[in-house]
Amino acid sequence: MSVQRITVLGSTGSVGKNTLDVILRHPERYQVVALTANDNVDLLLEQCRAVAPAEVVLANADAAERMHALLASAGLQDINVSSGQQALAAVVCANDTDTVMSAIVGAAGLQPTFAAVQAGKRVLIANKEPLVMTGDLFMREAGASGATILPIDSEHNAIFQCLPADLSQQGVRRIHLTASGGPFRGQAWSDLRDITPEQACAHPNWSMGAKISVDSATMMNKGLELIEAAALFGIDSDRVDILVHPQSIIHSLVEYSDGSFLAQLGAPDMRIPIAHALAWPERIESGADTLNLAAIARLDFVAPDMVNLPCLRLARAAAAAGQSAPASLNAANEVAVAAFLDRTIRYTDLATVIDSVMQQQEIRQIDSIESVLHIDNEARDLARRAINSL
Ligand code: NAD
Ligand code: MG
Repeated sequence: MSVQRITVLGSTGSVGKNTLDVILRHPERYQVVALTANDNVDLLLEQCRAVAPAEVVLANADAAERMHALLASAGLQDINVSSGQQALAAVVCANDTDTVMSAIVGAAGLQPTFAAVQAGKRVLIANKEPLVMTGDLFMREAGASGATILPIDSEHNAIFQCLPADLSQQGVRRIHLTASGGPFRGQAWSDLRDITPEQACAHPNWSMGAKISVDSATMMNKGLELIEAAALFGIDSDRVDILVHPQSIIHSLVEYSDGSFLAQLGAPDMRIPIAHALAWPERIESGADTLNLAAIARLDFVAPDMVNLPCLRLARAAAAAGQSAPASLNAANEVAVAAFLDRTIRYTDLATVIDSVMQQQEIRQIDSIESVLHIDNEARDLARRAINSL
């Protein structure tokens, strides 16, 4: 067995930390060549001690300078430090990287993830926003370069495990994406006006970064996942259903034409899809607890209450419109969520801001990364204006 050499983009985040946890259980299989982060230099130093990468990349020069000093005083001056988008693209494309874990949050991960795809790497996709933004273009580039795309998002990893081995649509009728429903399941949207960032981030089943936690509360996360599933598996979004399943034990299902439903079940622990994708097509220990179905005893399901989920409605509409609409939706959502997290806007303004951008921005064709970035910038401007005029 040859050792898999891995670059982890966003190693200090929730998915990044879980990735290193799985890797450290299997030192004979995996070697970390590079770690990257925004600016959490203290955690990055701790991770350097644990996995001894050859390189680290920070988002900006200031953080890189602090990292440099920390590594020198820890006797780890052999680790190379750099910063910025070009340095990120360089580490993912380097010959000594076989596999890239894409776990930056938001559109910031677009360029390095795209670079990994174009370089034909094995790319583990947690960072769903680049796929949402670029859709078919992403998968076409992967087809052209020979990159292997393995989904980490628990629902998409579940679907990947339940589809035919060649990922064909042979006999597939529908996909059912499960959703926990988040912390405000069953409540009227209009009653959520005074929800704080702390309340929105308190997810009942999963522990995640702040942005995806807010997206889970509004169910925009499920909307982004709907677009992600359509792009990843080449299926029309109207053949992807959403099913609220509060226990988060069934991670998604594939329905076949003969009436069979195949599901993947597991504890709500991201180390399961991470271990699956790291080892695929083999299987390794993830460290997750086993599932005690007798103790869980029951699994509940309910259709989403679309009347009270305006963000999910907006995402469905963007998925149906296609082309640049998902990129606009994603950018507007990122700006709105950041404003909610810093208490500039109310929880219920999230849908108002995104709706305003979707109504104003013209839908255009996406044919290159530059065209996506142009749409993304324009949508961010419109979202900031919508926030100022609330
Ligand atoms: P997080 O906020 O915990 O971590 C984000 C990581 O990205 C950190 O390492 C941070 O340093 C880095 N980062 C942030 N901004 C950056 C920038 N501008 N440039 C470079 N690096 C930057 O996020 P997370 O919860 O780990 O989620 C990461 C991605 O995985 C998201 O796209 C999310 O939707 C997806 N995802 C997460 C989970 C989960 O359980 N957390 C599950 C499914 C999918
Ligand atoms: Mg998910």
